[in-house]
Amino acid sequence: MSGQNIMHAETTAAPPTNLMSLDRASMESLFDAMGEKRFHARQVLRWIYQRDATSFDQMTDLGKSLRARLGRDAGISPPEVVARRASNDGTRKWLLQLADGNRIETVFIPEAARGTLCVSSQAGCALGCTFCATARGGFHRNLSVDEIIGQVWLAKRELAAEAGAPRAVTNIVLMGMGEPLLNFDNVVAALRLMTDDCAFGLSRRRVTLSTAGLAPAIERLGALCPVSLAVSLHAPDDELRTQLVPLNKKYPLARLLAACRRYAGARRQITFEYTLLDGVNAAPEHARALARLLGDLPAKVNLIPFNPSPGIAYRRPPQDAIDRFRDILLGAGVFTATRKTRGDDIGAACGQLAGKVLVRQPRREARAQ
Ligand code: SAH
Repeated sequence: MSGQNIMHAETTAAPPTNLMSLDRASMESLFDAMGEKRFHARQVLRWIYQRDATSFDQMTDLGKSLRARLGRDAGISPPEVVARRASNDGTRKWLLQLADGNRIETVFIPEAARGTLCVSSQAGCALGCTFCATARGGFHRNLSVDEIIGQVWLAKRELAAEAGAPRAVTNIVLMGMGEPLLNFDNVVAALRLMTDDCAFGLSRRRVTLSTAGLAPAIERLGALCPVSLAVSLHAPDDELRTQLVPLNKKYPLARLLAACRRYAGARRQITFEYTLLDGVNAAPEHARALARLLGDLPAKVNLIPFNPSPGIAYRRPPQDAIDRFRDILLGAGVFTATRKTRGDDIGAACGQLAGKVLVRQPRREARAQ
């Protein structure tokens, strides 16, 4: 009997807590529960995110017995890089292997004055936007906090190890694989680490979450962690938008824009992403309708010329059509920029991230989560 009990205790022993899965508040609770001082959370966060420590022995301002205890009960486990690619334009893409074998992609886009890291929030995606490569691979699961923040940790370390003048991550966009607002709690914890002075310390303006338009979650985010918001719009009316972004059936434009208006409040500007698809949503009348739709919002439009991907039958409009679309918006007083295509030679451009999803879930189930 007792033998069986021991066996049971052994097989169900809690795995060591990965400290990269905890934001500051959760780490303080952990130290509380251990009967230790809460301020150790700040020390440990600085060691992990500012000094790249992966072992507790390095944490010389923690007492020896606390270090030993953490070494027994906790760990620091970032994801593993399995492939690195560099584009002719300087964009880097890392393929990361997760503990369960799924693979996700993270992209770094260097520009003259900043370096933007594009982070994934799910393995695969459940939303089924018709022009996106991530959608084609299906959905597997939400990423955990450590898998999200681990991408930033790894990119910083990989960039620091490169020859020549090191590049820094100055901006983060949650525009990689997945729909961040369908992984709300983990994404918010990761956003907190991105903006915590004891971790990556970025200003909220420099961290952008991009969503296909989950209106209620946009409102919750505004109350909890109001980072910069980008909304993938892609069409100026419900009929066309529902064809391209099936989620629009659930949260049509009026509902979505009401949430955006609330999020913007008095000060914040919202970015609307609009992927230009030739013969679908890129005609002058679409631009005029878009300008009318966004009329009174503090909006900025980011036009994304379609990036091709195997098996996706859309085309990018010719350059003069892209310019014309932009000029109509500008003429109507809407701030508009065309996103420069970066990293398309290594499949790192918007909508090209596919990773490797091991087990797919039917979209219906995934969306119900
Ligand atoms: N699910 C979130 C995060 C993904 S962000 C969202 O929808 O916003 C990826 C951005 O790239 C989105 O604006 C998406 O609509 C856009 N995109 C997807 N596929 C694309 C493609 N093939 N070409 C250009 N942009 C694309």
